[in-house]
Amino acid sequence: MGYVTRIVIIGGGPGGYEAALVAAQLGAEVTVVDRDGLGGASVLTDCVPSKTLIATAEVMTTFDSSYEELGIIVADDTPPLERSARVVGVDLGKVNRRVKRLALAQSHDIAASVTRAGATVLRGHGRLTGPQTAEGTRTVRVEGPDGVVQELTADAVLVATGARPRELEDALPDGERILTWTQVYDLDELPEELIVVGSGVTGAEFAGAYQALGSTVTLVSSRDRVLPGEDPDAAAVLEDVFRRRGMNVMARSRAQSVKRVGDRVEVALADGRVITGTHCLMAVGAIPNSSGMGLEESGVKLTGSGHIWTDKVSRTSAPGVYAAGDVTGVFALASVAAMQGRIAMYHFLGDAVGPLNLKTVSSNVFTDPEIATVGYTQADVDSKRIEANVVKLPLLRNPRAKMQGIRDGFVKLFCRPGTGIVVGGVVVAPKASELIHPISIAVDNSLTVEQIANAFTVYPSLSGSIAEVARQLYNRKTADGS
Ligand SMILES: Cc1cc2nc3c(=O)[nH]c(=O)nc-3n(C[C@H](O)[C@H](O)[C@H](O)COP(=O)(O)OP(=O)(O)OC[C@H]3O[C@@H](n4cnc5c(N)ncnc54)[C@H](O)[C@@H]3O)c2cc1C
Repeated sequence: MGYVTRIVIIGGGPGGYEAALVAAQLGAEVTVVDRDGLGGASVLTDCVPSKTLIATAEVMTTFDSSYEELGIIVADDTPPLERSARVVGVDLGKVNRRVKRLALAQSHDIAASVTRAGATVLRGHGRLTGPQTAEGTRTVRVEGPDGVVQELTADAVLVATGARPRELEDALPDGERILTWTQVYDLDELPEELIVVGSGVTGAEFAGAYQALGSTVTLVSSRDRVLPGEDPDAAAVLEDVFRRRGMNVMARSRAQSVKRVGDRVEVALADGRVITGTHCLMAVGAIPNSSGMGLEESGVKLTGSGHIWTDKVSRTSAPGVYAAGDVTGVFALASVAAMQGRIAMYHFLGDAVGPLNLKTVSSNVFTDPEIATVGYTQADVDSKRIEANVVKLPLLRNPRAKMQGIRDGFVKLFCRPGTGIVVGGVVVAPKASELIHPISIAVDNSLTVEQIANAFTVYPSLSGSIAEVARQLYNRKTADGS
């Protein structure tokens, strides 16, 4: 029998399980070790649960914000005193039971497909035991939930252990009223007054969702605006929508401590102000799961933030050890984790491999409206990292948007002067995550604004605005030669 390459993957999130599928297809003997369940945090606590919760919130907002304009009559025979300001409401216990059910089912589906592909799944905590042997192998020590320890020999190891919510010493979660984003699915009743600390993507998504579900929301941001890392025009639209819907958005307000006082929470701000609510959700970033795993003893270099340093084909500083996903700190996205994991396996197993290209990554903020982006950004253009022409078209002028009662949002495209090659774009709209795809294809394939402008779009459609923006950029190119 011929020699079979042995791969051990620590962590079964998108970085790990996608790598396992690829490696098994390429004929390797693969073992995936995960302490929580396949799908990882992405499926069990982060991406899948939050988007399932947001699916309910989305229906609420769409109905709430447009039913009157669209001529829908709501028969309401509740006595006036009991009548709430809102027309529809949610049963959060039911929503959360659905969230958990879907997450578990997804985790089982992934475990089944990884097993079907021929890989072995082991439940337990994995760690490296030290340097590479003279034969070029490594050992991964796995401690199972029952305390039984086994040692696996590997020709290559992929570390894809993800990250966990950052906790502040003076704002420790109690799982009841002071919560991380992994704990909110245990709530049976909607928080009446929710304070969300942190206005990055996670904070903004949860603030928007709970507001739509019916909570009174305060969003505490230490920065000048919400979503400081996103397109500034997009962030401004979202902040405006949040405020119009009644959210209390507190800019330049750093939360210093959070404490529970009876059935309420108190959030003390750095400037001395104190705000109170019934619940507080901490969304102040994530820290990599890189400690207690024998990484440094095995020659794996960590960065100052505790992330694993990797190159563009997912190699770490230790021969035979690769890393993928949030533990590398490259881009906290499931799609990027999966790509890093696949690249690692293609590289180690000698298949054709291209280096990770972050300039073609598309991502989305699942708020209402959604914010989808791909390629070079407004910040890249403003800082002259790339020379590009920019056109932004509000959705207000789009016929389909008018028919659907959509007022907020825009399409923005960036193209190279001269050639008109599309290098990036932003869509702020309902379902922007779906609308970004043609722009993503354009960026990935260096299509020109002329090519986008000339492709048919359905009339009337929101994607018509993408073609219209491309036409404006093309007209500008032909008119002034730029
Ligand atoms: C609230 C929220 C919403 C998000 N929404 C999106 C989204 O919509 N789209 C998107 O692309 N991204 C989203 N993300 C980001 C996405 O979830 C992460 O980028 C993704 O989970 C990273 O995958 P990963 O493979 O690195 O690790 P993870 O998914 O974190 O999985 C790592 C696994 O490794 C296990 N593990 C850790 N240490 C060990 C060990 N020593 N031994 C064994 N097992 C171990 C963990 O228990 C976990 O199961 C979201 C993140 C958050 C927080």
